[in-house]
Amino acid sequence: MLQIDCPWCGPRDETEFSYGGEAHIVRPSDPDATSDEAWADYLFMRTNPRGRHAEQWCHAHGCRRWFNVVRDTVSYRIEAVYRIGGQGPGGSHDPA
Ligand SMILES: [Zn+2]
Repeated sequence: MLQIDCPWCGPRDETEFSYGGEAHIVRPSDPDATSDEAWADYLFMRTNPRGRHAEQWCHAHGCRRWFNVVRDTVSYRIEAVYRIGGQGPGGSHDPA
């Protein structure tokens, strides 16, 4: 079982959390000017890497806040946990 370190509550068992998919997905700034292909890409296409992956998690049975986790999809080792809008490892961050 994973132990996830909620930025607000501290370490908790994985069962308290919900997975929210890939992190750092940026909504097109002008949807009306976005092609159908680009819009479908934004809505549905996600990476599925073997290894390091930035993901969103929610502490559903705790503070109910969302945050980002960088996790290795092979070893399940969590490299970093940071708040939405915060600075992740390697300079990854959410748009303002
Ligand atoms: Zn929490």
